[in-house]
Amino acid sequence: MILSLSKIKSTIYWIDLFKERGFNRFKCRRCGRYFWSIEETDICGDCKEYNFIKNTPRTKVDITDMDHLRELYLSFFEERGHTRVNRYPVVARWRDDVYLVGASIYDFQPWVTEGIVPPPANPLVISQPCIRLTDIDKVGISGRHLTSFEMMAHHAFNTSKERVYWNEETVRYSYEFFVEGLGIDEEELIYIEDWWSGGGNAGEDFEVLIRGLEVATLVFMQYRVVDGKILEMDNKIVDTGYGLERIYWLLRGTPTIYDAILGGVIDTLYSRLGLRRVDEEILIEVTRKMGLLDTLTKENIEAILATLAQKYGLERKDFERDVKTQWTIYRLVDHAKTVLLMLADGLVPSNTGGGYLARLLIRRAMRDCIVLQLGLSIYDIIELLIPKLSKAFPELEEVKDSVLEMIEIEEDKFKRTIKTGRRLIQRRIKEYTTKGIRKFNLEDLILLYDSHGVPPEIVKEEAEKLGIKVEVPPDFYGRLASLHEGEAVVAKGIEYKITPEMLSNIQPTRKVYYEKPHIEEITAKVLKVIDGKYLVLDRTIFYPEGGGAPADTGVITWRRGSCKVVDVQSIGNVIVHVCEGDLSTLSTGEEVHCKVDIERRKSIMRAHTATHVILAASRAVLGKHVWQAGAQKSEDSARLDITHFKRLSGEDIEKIEELANRIIIDNRAVNVYELERNEAETKYGFTLYQGGVVPEKVLRIIDIENWDAEACCGLHCSSTGEVGLVKIVRTERIQDGVERIEFLTGMKSLRYLQSIEEKLKECSLILNRPLGEVVIGLKDLLEENRRLRRELRRLTEQIIESLASRIRSTMERYKDMEFGIEVLKEITDLDQAIKLAFRALATSRNGVLALLIPVKEGYRFIIALTSQIVDRGLDARSILKNLQRTMRIFGGGKEDLVQGLIREIELEKIIGNIKRAFKDEYDRIQ
Ligand SMILES: [Zn+2]
Ligand SMILES: [Zn+2]
Repeated sequence: MILSLSKIKSTIYWIDLFKERGFNRFKCRRCGRYFWSIEETDICGDCKEYNFIKNTPRTKVDITDMDHLRELYLSFFEERGHTRVNRYPVVARWRDDVYLVGASIYDFQPWVTEGIVPPPANPLVISQPCIRLTDIDKVGISGRHLTSFEMMAHHAFNTSKERVYWNEETVRYSYEFFVEGLGIDEEELIYIEDWWSGGGNAGEDFEVLIRGLEVATLVFMQYRVVDGKILEMDNKIVDTGYGLERIYWLLRGTPTIYDAILGGVIDTLYSRLGLRRVDEEILIEVTRKMGLLDTLTKENIEAILATLAQKYGLERKDFERDVKTQWTIYRLVDHAKTVLLMLADGLVPSNTGGGYLARLLIRRAMRDCIVLQLGLSIYDIIELLIPKLSKAFPELEEVKDSVLEMIEIEEDKFKRTIKTGRRLIQRRIKEYTTKGIRKFNLEDLILLYDSHGVPPEIVKEEAEKLGIKVEVPPDFYGRLASLHEGEAVVAKGIEYKITPEMLSNIQPTRKVYYEKPHIEEITAKVLKVIDGKYLVLDRTIFYPEGGGAPADTGVITWRRGSCKVVDVQSIGNVIVHVCEGDLSTLSTGEEVHCKVDIERRKSIMRAHTATHVILAASRAVLGKHVWQAGAQKSEDSARLDITHFKRLSGEDIEKIEELANRIIIDNRAVNVYELERNEAETKYGFTLYQGGVVPEKVLRIIDIENWDAEACCGLHCSSTGEVGLVKIVRTERIQDGVERIEFLTGMKSLRYLQSIEEKLKECSLILNRPLGEVVIGLKDLLEENRRLRRELRRLTEQIIESLASRIRSTMERYKDMEFGIEVLKEITDLDQAIKLAFRALATSRNGVLALLIPVKEGYRFIIALTSQIVDRGLDARSILKNLQRTMRIFGGGKEDLVQGLIREIELEKIIGNIKRAFKDEYDRIQ
């Protein structure tokens, strides 16, 4: 049913509770929206300035901290029939369309919201940490924006079969929470009628405001938006969100949200740095004014600050600096907290994906520290935050060391980036200057950050020294974040032209490869032949490509023919065999005999099982931040890509290899079973999705006894012992934050080790030493080699010296030119000949010398001149040219040195020619 907006809006907002409690409906004269309130007013609360700061609403409970408030919320809803559900990670591993969780409903998208999987409980209550980077540039300034926050939520999932609760109950719960749970007067509550849409869904909602602060949103998600049309959904979902930090701020009434939620850390920073805080009254006014700005520009921020400086009689510059310092401290603490949550959930900073967003925050915080010269680093702040947050996030203590190490490494990288960055900026500015451009453009700013990691503030600092103007848009980081948050994850398409329609009447293929992964042959019945090369059977033992494993190969034979199976693809529930051979003699219903290349299959199964074993070993050795970033298994080799913040050391590799082989020698059972999605997630957590998102309601779990469990569709050994020896043969950094581990299994490991042993044995024979002494033998040999080379150098030096004096004594004279022509037998190296020539000429003023080294085709030669004779105008190149008139001579060089080859063998003629050329050329310069 297609609905019109006006029709929708009329009914759902009329709540009985409003009538009971005396709420009336008003229209806001500012924004035009309708809202419900007990007190008569014509402004909606969203359009009002805050009035809870230093003036908190009356409550009946004394909330001691955020942990207390969270617990009060969760148990309040628990007492009212909701099941408490544990928080999900902030990294959305179960989805392939987003990197980070931005709202509690993300936990249930798309499986539950699409009705594929039942919710983990219904109704449920949760407090979900969320990360949103869209307003990153307002953080600190607005006094209320955060990059991470906790969304407390109660959700109800209604289907056509089961009604849980809807608008009436939802509003009633929210009313009861604020009025009874917290004891806030009902007159404080304002419910604004609004419309929400996102991620293809939409619905009416209420914004709940207290004293101008939005504390909750109650969404009635019941439409799907398709091509701009609004369609009703079968499932109707209550999607609420109560801002834990915001409600806590409301109850505290501090000038900013940051003072309320992280005040302790902020105080520590201020006293540690010995900075002056902005007067509280003034800060309140700054925050109130900034909070009302929709977009921040340099101009409107500075205008507000100027007005306030004047109002309070403060020096404008000092005031501006103090305020901006305070904003920066707020931002630092906020960013540090978000980074901590990201890294604790297993993100590794990098240049792509979720890792990019983590690095963006780290760099921005580090830049703040540099610009303000705070003598502080994000490392220090994270260290302060961990104890403060570990009550709510106990896992922080466990990952503390690796998180701090990651931050340290990032800081080092950033410092190096800035160094090289300054050079890049200077180069860019040179280009600008030659083109006469006086202003840095935004594309270049983004490029410098994205490709080289140079933050725009550093560009500004550097460029303005050189007279180029740089304007950094206030939403620069928000733009970057949204550029990368929206990165689509592209799935591999099927390259064959088979559409699901072509398979529409075909029954699902029975997957015998799952039932009996070790059997080699079966008979099956032909269901369809498509385009003379695609074959569909009623059952198959051919594993289709998937789960990072290639498809099986093999042969299919029948009464009148046979074909090779070169690829296998799974399309919906139907398995399609891609065949090479003549299928024309096959008819539907005919029986065929399938034979899979079982050795190849077993190799792949070993590699696949080893992948699971090595991944878990890497996590055990390196830490929980390690996630699979990719994997490939083939018959001959396998590789596993893992996220890790630095290069694997030799020791790391050894430890991983050893641990993996221990698990293999243990011969642990590899159990394969199916589990309903919610149950599997509860039992194993989200490391289930190491191999990627699995789009199924029921997950196929590969459970290696007491070691590792992953959702995976691949074929595996039945116990780890079958894998045989695992040998890591190579590791490589394939991108920032990702290490590739290449490894071998089974007999291939053995063959690899044998070939190494073979080479060692050869070395032992050549060295004439026992195998155990090969290394010592090599070292001795190298030492001997070094000694001999030293000796050789010394002797060559002697030879050159004695040759030089011989040459000097036989030099002839023509006018005041000294010249010599010498055939060398003691030296064969041209470089040494050059050295010799100049040594021999050292005592000569107007000297020229030709040295000849006999070779098979004739003579290699050099002709060298002293600098004095060059200064007088003699050029080695003209001598060469002169010679070319009388001999076959090839070469080239500079004015004082030419070299090349003389393709003549009559030495006397050669010497005569050279002598004449020397004299001719010398005469020419007289
Ligand atoms: Zn309004
Ligand atoms: Zn697997």
